[in-house]
Amino acid sequence: MTDPAANPPVPPRTTAAAEDYLERIAGLIKNKGYARVVDIAAELKISQASVTTMVQRLDVDGLVKYEKYRGMVLTDAGEAVAARIAHRHELLTQLLRFFELPEDVIFRDVEGMEHHISGETLDALERLTRHLHAHPEIVAQLRR
Ligand code: ZN
Repeated sequence: MTDPAANPPVPPRTTAAAEDYLERIAGLIKNKGYARVVDIAAELKISQASVTTMVQRLDVDGLVKYEKYRGMVLTDAGEAVAARIAHRHELLTQLLRFFELPEDVIFRDVEGMEHHISGETLDALERLTRHLHAHPEIVAQLRR
């Protein structure tokens, strides 16, 4: 058993849309044990036809194994991308919570940032988050 977040292989280049799908698929599999096109369509509020097209593309790209009547699983590469996005989502959420922003604002902004931030900036924000965790007095100063 390897933890893909602990020692990630170099993930393939992915678009924000592909990353969103992989994030949803991983979340569904974690929570329900499976991911179906109908569930993804409901979560992303788009048509099942659009979801099927995207999932087929993820299959061609080697990120998902999709069988029409059996649903889908993530490949190792797909797992690596999903783990990377989950890590970013968690880190950015923790950082913004220091400022006591509304949860819906945090979620919306994190969903955008998690796809677009560079590895270098993420590293910097990770150091900042660790520092703030260790220094609640600074957090108190930052809050209005
Ligand atoms: Zn996210």
